[in-house]
Amino acid sequence: KKITIAIDGHSSCGKSTMAKDLAREVGYVYVDTGAMYRSVTLYALRNGLFTDKGIDEEALREHIDRGDVNISFRFNAETGRPDTYLNGELVEHDIRTMEVSSRVSPIAALPFVRTAMVAQQQQMGKDKGVVMDGRDIGTVVFPDAELKIFVTASAEVRARRRYDELKGKGMEADYADILRNVEERDYIDSHREVSPLRQASDAILLDNSQMTIAEQKEWLMNQFRQ
Ligand code: C5P
Repeated sequence: KKITIAIDGHSSCGKSTMAKDLAREVGYVYVDTGAMYRSVTLYALRNGLFTDKGIDEEALREHIDRGDVNISFRFNAETGRPDTYLNGELVEHDIRTMEVSSRVSPIAALPFVRTAMVAQQQQMGKDKGVVMDGRDIGTVVFPDAELKIFVTASAEVRARRRYDELKGKGMEADYADILRNVEERDYIDSHREVSPLRQASDAILLDNSQMTIAEQKEWLMNQFRQ
């Protein structure tokens, strides 16, 4: 039987690495919902929807309603992981920049953005084994998921991991900037009105501050087998 696995948690806590590894191991589809909110943010940046007065919400809503913001994933055989596409263009790299990271949480707090993304996510996870990572998967997208994990780690550990990841990809990174961004996103994500980040009552908590990637992977596989 194929089940739905919801992995939620704080920014840069390594959820996606765990989720991707598990999906690959058990042959499930992996969906990175953060990549979807990041793609909407990139779209807004490219179309001048961040103005001096803030986000042009009306315009963004029109673009989304018109179907101008199409996000999809395609499996990359080289990395063994899905890549993110925005209107057919590979944006996997562009959605991970600090510019997008610093603007994504306010975009993800807009109710009409969430409604559109959640509908797509529910469609992607229908009738198949799926590992989905995000902030509201166990609470809103799939409240009936068979396995729910809530991942966290100290902000410093998470910032360090993000820093190493960006550096590893040859991208620009400043530890202090990243730490500030991680804390800011935690705050916005947990205090927004719609679907605030919180642990589902039936989710298993994992603090991976002191764990290696291999240990996290093993821990998650054990949860899956139970
Ligand atoms: O997971 P990642 O850090 O890439 O997510 C980027 C941002 O997208 C988060 O900080 C959050 O604001 C938003 N997000 C969300 N709901 C999700 C996934 C991500 O609000 N399910």
